[in-house]
Order: sequence, then C-alpha cells, then structure tokens
Amino acid sequence: MNAHDYISDVLDYIERTSLGQVTFKQAATEILRALEPVLDREPKYIKHKVVDRMVMPERTNIFRITYANDKGEPESHYGYRVQFNSAIGPYKGGLRFHPSVNLDIIKFLGFEQIFKNSLTGLSMGGAKGGANFDPKGKSDGEIMRFCQAFMNALHEIIGDVIDVPAGDIGVGGREIGYMFGQYKRIKHRFEGTLTGKGLSWGGSLVRTEATGYGLVYFANEMLKKAGRGFEGLTCAVSGAGNVAIYTCEKLYQFGAKPVTVSDSTGYIYDAEGIDVALLKQLKEVERVGLREYSVRKAGSKFIPVSEYKPGRNGVWDVKCDAAFPCATQNEVSLADIEVLYNNGCRLLAEGANLPSTLDAMEFMAAKSDFLYGPAKAANAGGVATSGLEMAQNAAMESWSFEKVDARLQGIMKHIFDISYETSVEFGRPGDLVLGGNIAGFRKVADAMIDQGY
Ligand code: GLU
Repeated sequence: MNAHDYISDVLDYIERTSLGQVTFKQAATEILRALEPVLDREPKYIKHKVVDRMVMPERTNIFRITYANDKGEPESHYGYRVQFNSAIGPYKGGLRFHPSVNLDIIKFLGFEQIFKNSLTGLSMGGAKGGANFDPKGKSDGEIMRFCQAFMNALHEIIGDVIDVPAGDIGVGGREIGYMFGQYKRIKHRFEGTLTGKGLSWGGSLVRTEATGYGLVYFANEMLKKAGRGFEGLTCAVSGAGNVAIYTCEKLYQFGAKPVTVSDSTGYIYDAEGIDVALLKQLKEVERVGLREYSVRKAGSKFIPVSEYKPGRNGVWDVKCDAAFPCATQNEVSLADIEVLYNNGCRLLAEGANLPSTLDAMEFMAAKSDFLYGPAKAANAGGVATSGLEMAQNAAMESWSFEKVDARLQGIMKHIFDISYETSVEFGRPGDLVLGGNIAGFRKVADAMIDQGY
C-alpha cells in the first residue's frame, strides 16, 4: 500500500474511533500527511504499522476532581492525563487548566508532544493533561485546593521515571508548587516528578523564560538561514501569558520591537513597543485583564474583542514584519494570515500549540517568500528546559543561568538544523512542517520497532 492511502486509512480510523475529536483529527492530519514521503521511502514503518499504533494513546486517564470553593460548596471538574507514547523516555508534557479543556484538546496536545519532545534530542515521551477548570477570578485558596484535589487523583500515575507533568495554559509556578506539595505529602517522597518548580526546591533557572526565549532563538535561526536578521523588525505577538511575555523580552534583546499582546478580553497596540515590566506586573502579580495596560501606559490602545471583525482575530490587523502567535489553538485563520501577508508580514513562528488552522498553514507553505516555524519545532524550548530540569534533579545539581540558556540555544539550533536538513533530504528545502515532523517521527518510530509489540 502506498503511504498516501495508508495515511488516509489511519485518518478514517481516527474519524470512526475518536468521535467528534476535531482538533485531534486536525493535528493528526497535519502530522501524518507530512510523514508520507518517509513512509514511501522506508517500507518498515508501514510493515510494522507504526503510525496505527502511534495515534492510539498508550493509556488515557480521566478522573473527577472535586474541591471546596470559598463558599464551602463542592465543585467538580473533569481531570485528564493522556499518556500517549513512552518509546523514547518517560511521559512528559504539560497540564492545562482552562474551561475549553476536554479529551479532544488533551489528545491533540499529547499527540503533538510526542514529536516535539523527540525533536529536542532529549529522552522524553509524550503526554498531556489538565482540567476543564477556569482559574480566572478564583482566590488563592481555591487554586490551592483545586491543585491538591487534582494531585489526589494524579499521584497514582506519575513519578520521576514514569510521567513528569509541567505547566501549560492556566498552570504556572504557583500551581506547580501546590501540586508538588501535595504529591510530596501523599507519597512521602521528594522527587522531580513535576517541572517548572521553584528555584529553592528543585527548579531550573531559565525554565520560566524558556518557551518564549526558545521561540525567538528558533526564529533567529530561520532568519539567519534566509540571510536576514531581527534588527529593526516590528513584531505582532498574541497572548499575554508566560510564552508571550518572554517572547517580547527576548525580541528586544535581538533588536526587534513587539507592538502587541492579547488576552481573552482584547488586544493592546503599543507603537512604542510593549512595556514588558508593566505586562509582568499586570499578568503575573495582579492577574488582571489587558484594558488596564492602556490605563497605565500613555499612547497605547486597547481594542476589545467586541470590536474584532467577524471571523477575525483583531491582533493580526496590526501591520508587522513578523508574527508570533503565543495564545492558543486556532488563533490564526486563513483570513488572518492573508491580512498579515498583505500587510507585509513575512515570518510566523508559533509559540502556542497548533495556533494556525490547516488552511492557514497551507497558505504559508505555498508562499516562497514566507518563513513559517511550526509549533512543535519553534516552541519546544519550554519542554526542552524541563528536560534540563530533570537532568539537574537526577544529578542533584543546579546549573547557572548562563549554562541552561546556552543549552537551550544549542537545542533550538539543533531542532532548526535537523528540521531544515530533513526538509532538504526530502526535496522540500525550508518546509519545516515536513522536516520537523519526519525528524521527530523517525526517532520514536525506530524505538517502537526496536522494542517490539
Ligand atoms: N506545556 C509546554 C508544551 O506545550 C511544556 C511542557 C513541559 O515542560 O513538560 O510543550
């Protein structure tokens, strides 16, 4: 059977068995279609039915989490941990707390994570988890009790050589702290079973900054390959969480200027450049909406979601040279990318997971003058630095900022190089979707074949 038909069969199988899981199907379509050239070239992958096996999580955990809110009432949510693939290392991937979380979302994220983690060159399998819990507006006490209730269910299935969760949307240092404390209480063990920990209890320098910094390091490699650089570029960034904040910070260090950030309420346009210290104060300390930025920073403008054109994400209306979606899935549609392109944007690198729709991805791939850095390569710096945190924990060491940052830069360069070289090997130079997916796939697929079934 040829690869195209084989992949069509696998996608049909997903359609039949993962009913209604449209985002998982979207992610699988992107990845599996990119694998066709390697499947045609190396028959062993189809012979061993590697792709059929990869699209099924090794283990899918769903549990109820009940905690007491501040009124003393029980509130219940769905908790998930999808342990997708452990061929090359213990399960690894973040936890997302957001009302949109469901099995579809966690499966798409977990599937992506397999390939992303493989690309880092470190030994980490793929997993993802979370809950349909909305942390917005919750008190610190409610967050703590929810995290503890979550860990009451999760502790049974994780461990430092089993599964090592970390943060994602809605889960940062505070939440990791509450979960780590509860794990330790229940298990009576101090072990690195979570990453993104505080610096005095096993965390790594640079982990907080890693996804954003890594994204800019990756985009810099893309620009270098095209004989260009960051100096003087105007950049549009979406999101206002950890990834967006440290993307803005690093863009300045490369001589570029971020002029936007966004959250669920709207976006900020600041022609002078985003004030990163103010953004950190609003989002990491006060935890308030972005309108407040425009109140405190003269000359900046807040555009609320209610003023976005129908079917559009307003933040992409801003004229820019480069775009960095750092908010969430499907935040760049075909209409959005057309506007960006027509306004002169020639680079898009993804800090969020799956921010571009399939037709937006096709649009970027078809433009020979456009540089596209897909998520699983471009945003792998976060999980890569989690891998470095695991290495430090195992060795009972704490590395310096410079050492971790240098390792992160090296890893991002490695991911770019291996993705680019693979795109050349398959006759599509610069197609990092093809190159990244194939490079990530080969390592995991070969390990699965070696380990039998
Ligand atoms: N949530 C991040 C990601 O999407 C980081 C996961 C981790 O550090 O384990 O890759």
